Amino acid sequence: MPGITPRGPGESPGPEPLGTGLRRNNADRDHPHAIAELLADPRARVVDLAEGATPVTTDSGESRPQARLSWRPPRPDDAEHLVLSIGRDGAAGPVLAVVRDREFVAPAGSTWRGLREVGADLDPFDAEVFMTAVALARWHESHPRCPRCGAETVSERAGWTRRCPQDGSEHFPRTDPAVIMAVVDEFDRLLLGRNVLWPTGRFSVLAGFVEPGERLEAAVVREVHEEVGVNVTDVQYFGSQPWPFPASLMLGFTARAVQPDLRPDADEIAEARWVSREEVRQLVENAQLTLPGRLSIARRLIEDWYGGRLSPAREATWGRR
Ligand SMILES: [Zn+2]
Repeated sequence: MPGITPRGPGESPGPEPLGTGLRRNNADRDHPHAIAELLADPRARVVDLAEGATPVTTDSGESRPQARLSWRPPRPDDAEHLVLSIGRDGAAGPVLAVVRDREFVAPAGSTWRGLREVGADLDPFDAEVFMTAVALARWHESHPRCPRCGAETVSERAGWTRRCPQDGSEHFPRTDPAVIMAVVDEFDRLLLGRNVLWPTGRFSVLAGFVEPGERLEAAVVREVHEEVGVNVTDVQYFGSQPWPFPASLMLGFTARAVQPDLRPDADEIAEARWVSREEVRQLVENAQLTLPGRLSIARRLIEDWYGGRLSPAREATWGRR
């Protein structure tokens, strides 16, 4: 049965804690034979990646499914593929991802799964590795040529740069900033919206991309006004979440409405409403509200406003807003 774990004042979940144990290691990338050296390290461990999926082992767990990346030691043929140095683990062992095609047979007991499917069931370390590997691999795949001269570029610096052999230019993985915001009115009700592409009952806080030359705070004000016609002020930073679908970084904010009249942009927002905590509690208890996935920053913003964890019967797949 969907329920709510009560929490006292000041116990709201808040932003995610810092760090997952993955140590991003710039020094590893600068060595001219970085990949060969890292693959030769006896502590090295590898995940395979194809089309945004990786072999995963799952078990049902006590209260919810648990998933693990299917780690393996390096293989002699790894160096024939695109290899990405993701970082080092707590014991300083190299953590690598090898980009293959789906023909590669997943190790016994594991199956190919996408980040959206299993992201929420992975521990934070595995989730960060998977997210980083997917984001980097997609960038390599979609940037095969030099934007200056059109020549084919090559992966360098252990997968963190592509270089053009014709003009020597270097190209770096992109991260596109997007803002996501919990807006409250004078009664401390939360603004929720339903995207035109979402089924009935599915709601989240509003979000949108930052434009070139725009401050984050201004993007929050602009997006809320564009999507629902509400003017906001008191924009405060909350926390962030990588969003590799394909290359975003979600920057979470809170804001206060100056006037609460809702005029949703019909092209984007099917429905927008102000909800009180009591309404959210009842909607969740009656299974009438589908919330964003439990590890999404959207969910953290909603639960932070609510003041406790929500356990809806229905929640969106992790990674979708
Ligand atoms: Zn070039």
